Formats: sequence, structure tokens, C-alpha cells
Amino acid sequence: MKTYKKKDIKRIYRKRIWPSVALFFIFLGICGVMFYTSIYMFEEYFVEAKIGNMQEEAENLGRLITANLEEEPVLDAVAHLEEYLGQERDVCVMDQDGNVLGKFGDTAPDLGNQITVEIAEAYTLIPDSGWEQGTSGLLMPVQEILSRSMDALPGSRDASKDREWLEKTIFSVHFWIEIPIQVEGFRLYYKAPVKLLQKNILFIVTAVLVEVALLMVPILLLFLNMVTSIVMQRRMIKLLYLDTVTGGKNWEYFIQRSKKLLCRFWNSSNTYAVVNLHMDRYQDFCACYGNKAGEELLQSIQGFLEMNVGRGEAFARFAKADFGLLLQCSDIKQCRKRMKRMLAELTGLKKDRALDWHGGVYLIPPMEHGSGKPHRRQIDVEQVYHYANAARGNLKGKDGQYIGVFDEQILKEQLWKNKVESTMEEALLNKEFKLYLQPKYNPVSEKPVGAEALVRWDSPEDGLISPSRFIPIFEENGFITQLDDYMVSELAKLQSEWKLQGKKPFPVSVNVSRANFTKENLAQHICGLVDAYGAEHAYIELEVTESAFFGDKEMLQKIIQELKMYGFRVSMDDFGAGYSSLNSLKDLTVDVLKLDMDFFRGGDMGPRGEIVVKEAIRLAKSLNMQVVAEGIEQKQQVEFLAEQGCDMIQGFYFAKPMPVEEFEKMMNRYPA
Ligand code: C2E
Ligand code: MG
Ligand code: MG
Repeated sequence: MKTYKKKDIKRIYRKRIWPSVALFFIFLGICGVMFYTSIYMFEEYFVEAKIGNMQEEAENLGRLITANLEEEPVLDAVAHLEEYLGQERDVCVMDQDGNVLGKFGDTAPDLGNQITVEIAEAYTLIPDSGWEQGTSGLLMPVQEILSRSMDALPGSRDASKDREWLEKTIFSVHFWIEIPIQVEGFRLYYKAPVKLLQKNILFIVTAVLVEVALLMVPILLLFLNMVTSIVMQRRMIKLLYLDTVTGGKNWEYFIQRSKKLLCRFWNSSNTYAVVNLHMDRYQDFCACYGNKAGEELLQSIQGFLEMNVGRGEAFARFAKADFGLLLQCSDIKQCRKRMKRMLAELTGLKKDRALDWHGGVYLIPPMEHGSGKPHRRQIDVEQVYHYANAARGNLKGKDGQYIGVFDEQILKEQLWKNKVESTMEEALLNKEFKLYLQPKYNPVSEKPVGAEALVRWDSPEDGLISPSRFIPIFEENGFITQLDDYMVSELAKLQSEWKLQGKKPFPVSVNVSRANFTKENLAQHICGLVDAYGAEHAYIELEVTESAFFGDKEMLQKIIQELKMYGFRVSMDDFGAGYSSLNSLKDLTVDVLKLDMDFFRGGDMGPRGEIVVKEAIRLAKSLNMQVVAEGIEQKQQVEFLAEQGCDMIQGFYFAKPMPVEEFEKMMNRYPA
């Protein structure tokens, strides 16, 4: 399954949202500029039109006056224009120094207050007294014009008065402008209003509204596009972080949230615990009650955790009924206490069936700034979760313990396991696994009468490794079947070499792990391996550990029968260790019973131990089986076993497992 990393999610986020957000704002900016420019242009257009008219009027006046000047003096020529000028317009005649020689109207221009308006052309104007020259010069602030036009708008109007209404002036400013005449010593000024009519405002407002309407359509569309992409994005990210079974947040979210919480500055003095909560036999639960009930159970666990995990903490389901939690705690004691309470409540989550829960903890201490210790951002939360998981897995077989705490030892084991798993295949190809032989002795004659083939890993890096360090790992990961095949082949090869060398055939047993007993054709398979070297079946004994006898008994029985049919001997290894089943002796017709070394550990068996061993030997004899005692280290044990009629003794008292060459040398000391 592809897991999305923070990077991917950020990328999706950027890819999907930013283009629409950027497009929206760019377009909004363009619209703003367009809007401002058009308003500015309208304003200029009106001012240009109005002042241009005024200038034109002044020029006409100039022409009229100049025409009259042939017949009368300037002042009279101007006086004749009075009718033409009307009420709103004044004319003022001045000399070159600006002294008023005559005027028509109440006011006169103030020559010191000249302004130049540059639109298409440059106009020199003199504002009439009362006009305050603003910062924008002649251009009237739009806001003022609009507010005045709004004031002028009637609430309800008669349709017949529309014309009149349109011509109504809402804003009027008077300016003086020079009348061009060619008469020495005179300057003529003409005052006229610059008017803003209701119809002008109506035109501007209509044009602006049309422009706004036109711009609003794409703005709205882009805005909608932006909002939908944000909403879609949120939904997509929500889905990416959704655990579809529990309905809560998924593992990816947990990892990212935990990292965030651990790295937050104000959390640096907090101790955290990465916790693994595991419900045992969830599969069995589903098999019993159905998948739907299984999912409902997971949902109720989700609900329970939502109630019990705080805001500054995190949790999510890892797989099946495995949950990862990031809890805040003061120390391991408090963490244990909290977990214990949680496990107790989870155990009783289903009224009709007690659930089995175990937990593992990995403690993350507060950050020590400047201590040289790595920063918490370097913590791989997933790895740490696996450590907590390993601490929980380490509880296997420890009755009454439900919470495992990760420590250095577990870390070492974990690292070792990883190393073994990463090198085992290559080691097998490189023949790093060596066959050692431990002889079995007749306790009476004290001569070797057989041997057991035991594996040793001769690692170039770690030296000679004992099977107890890697067999359990191989049994867990299934590689044991390949190793067993290899050992059977190696033994067959050795037997055939001895045969070729003319040596007396010698019975050797080899271990066959219980994992092999799932193969229905195991007997044929072993037969094939042995026959590949032409070794004699009668001298090869297959040791099956007692625990294998708890599996599919019928299949085991069938395989044992077949092995015997092929002429192999079969023994029951480690009899008496763990949960021995006397019953299995009844059904499984093995040739040899190997008494577990636990019977003889520590030297002194005690009177009760002696009775058990004596009766076990007697039982085996009655069932027509040979008996091998393993782990014999003391002389009195040999004597006791000889007395009881034990057939063979395998133990350090006689010899330890040894390489083949050493074994052959030892055998040479015993003439045939
Ligand atoms: P096992 O098959 O019961 O082998 C006997 C173990 O007892 C051997 O340990 C042997 O060295 C040890 N032993 C024998 N006599 C004494 C004694 O007097 N004192 C003590 N303390 N130990 C004694 P080893 O070789 O370390 O093997 C351990 C186990 O690993 C074996 O127990 C067997 O279960 C497994 N094993 C070894 N080789 C193989 C293999 O090739 N295939 C499989 N599947 N398992 C193997
Ligand atoms: Mg064995
Ligand atoms: Mg054994």
C-alpha cells in the first residue's frame, strides 16, 4: 500500500490550491487597476470636455470683441456682450499689471491664483474666490462627486420630470479663463461655471456599474473555483488521513502528528511514551463472530481511545487490532499505571467476551538542549513504534505480564534479528552453516553408537554462532525449512562420503523443525534430498520436537508413517519439555524417545526425578522404542541411566558437538 508522506501531501496541496488562489488574486489586482484607470479616465474626459467648452466659448468671445473693436473701445465692446453672457458668466477687463479697468459681474479674477490644468492640452485657469484648490488640482475627488450625486437623487420621481432632473446641476465651480484678444494694454478674463449635471453622474454611475458587473462575473467564477478547490483539497486530505475501518485518523496521520507534537518547542520538557496496544487473537474473534463484528469492535476501540487520549496526544490503528499511541506522561511508572487502566477497560469492552490485550512502551525523555543528544526531530516515530511492539512481543510466554517496556537488551535483540534476517540467505548460499556432530554413547560399553547433526553458523563477521541465537528467528520467519533441507542434504552427503571411503555405516540423527510438518509431501521431499547423494535411509534419523506433536496430528502421523516406510528412523526430541503429551506416544509410532535435558539439569535429579526418568524409560521400552538421554554431564547420571536400561547417552560427559573432521578423528580411536 502506498503511504503518503508529508512531502506528497504538501505537493498535492500546492498543486491543487495555489494556482486557483493565485489566479484569483492576480485577476482581482488586474480588475482593481482597470477599475481605477477607468474612473480616472472618466473624470479626465469630463473635465476635458467641460474646460474645453469653456476655452471654446472664450475664443468665440475673443473673436466677437475683436470684431467690435474697430468701431468702439474695449470696455464698450465688452459691455455689448452683456446680453450674450447671461447671469452665470462674468467678464473682467484688466490692464497689463492686473488692475481692474472694468467688469461685468460681482467678482474679479485673482491673477496670483492661476493654475494650469494639463489634460490633452494645457489650460490656464483661475479659480473663482471660494474655490479651495485641493491636492488633486482641478480633478474633483470622485467620492465627493458621488456623494453629491447621491444627495441629488430623488427618492421617487415623476416620469415627466426626468428630463428636468437629468439637466439639474449637482456640482458647479466657477473659473476665470483669459479671452484671447489682440489689443495692447488690455487683458480680458471670462468667468464661467464648470458644471456636473445629474445626467453626467448617471452616465458615470451606469458605466461604472456595467464595468463592475462585467468584471464581477469572472471574479465570482474565479472565487468559486478557488473555494471549490480548497474544499476539494480539504476533502482529499481528510480522505488521505482516514482509516476507513475505524472512521478515525489513519497511521500516516499518527506519524505526522506525533512528529509535530514531539518537536513543538513548548513540548520539549514533556516525557512521551510511544505505545503499542495489541489485541491477541483478533483473527479468531473475526472467525467466531464475523468480519462485521470485528470491524465494529475496532470502531468501539477507536471510540474508547478518542475518550482516553488527550488533545496533546495522538493515536491511530496500525493494522488489524494493533493501535499506536503517543501519550504524555511524567515517568514510566505513571505511564504503566495509565496503560494498566486502559488495558483493563479494553479487556471488558465486549460484555460477552473478555478480550486479551498486551502493550509495549518506548519512553521518549524530555529534550535536553545543549546536551549533545540528538534533537527529537530525528526520532523515527514508526521505528520507535516497532520498538514498543518488540517490547510487547518480548512478553511472549511471560504469564501475568501485560506491559513490556523497551530497553537496551530488546534493542540489541532487535538489531540482531534484523542482522540475521538480512544475511541468512546469503549465508546459506555461502555455506556458512556448518554441520557439527555430537556423538551418542552406549552407557554400558561407553562407545559411540550414533550422533546428532547440529548446525553452527560460522559467520565471517561474528564467528561461530550457536543455534539458540538464530533457530528461533528462523522458526519465526520460516527460513528454518530451508536450513533443515540444507542440513539433511549435508548429512546425506557425509553419509555417502563415508560409504565411499568404506567406513562402517553410522546412524546420525538430524533435526526437522515443526514448521516442515505443514508440507504434505514432506516424506517424499526428504527422501529426494537423501537420494540425491545416494545415502542409506536406515542410518538417517529424523528428530521431531515434541511441540510438533500438537499440530495436525493426523498429518503428522501420516508423515511419520511415510518416513518409516522409506526406511528412515524417527525420534521424538525433547520429550518431557514443555507440555508433553503422553497421549501422542499412543498414536505416533516413533522409533526413539529423546528425554529432554531438563530432567538432568543441575546434576542431582532427586528421588522423584529418578522415578519419573525410570518410568519414562520403562514406558518407552514397553512401546518398543529406544531411549536417548540428552544433556548428561555427570558420571552418576550415566550409571543411573545404564541401570535403567537407557540405550544411548548424549551429553558433555562424553563429548560436545564437534566439526566433522574432529568427529572422524575421534571415531578412528574406536576400531570397528
Ligand atoms: P536439540 O536438538 O535438543 O539438541 C541438543 C542440544 O543440547 C544441542 O544444543 C547440544 O549441544 C546440547 N547438549 C547436548 N549435551 C549437552 C550437555 O551435556 N549439556 C548442555 N548444556 N547441552 C548439551 P545446540 O547444538 O545448541 O542446539 C540447540 C537446539 O537447536 C537443538 O536442540 C535443536 O532444537 C536446535 N537445532 C540445532 N541444529 C538444528 C538444525 O539443524 N535444525 C533444526 N531445526 N534445529 C536445530
Ligand atoms: Mg535434536
Ligand atoms: Mg533435544
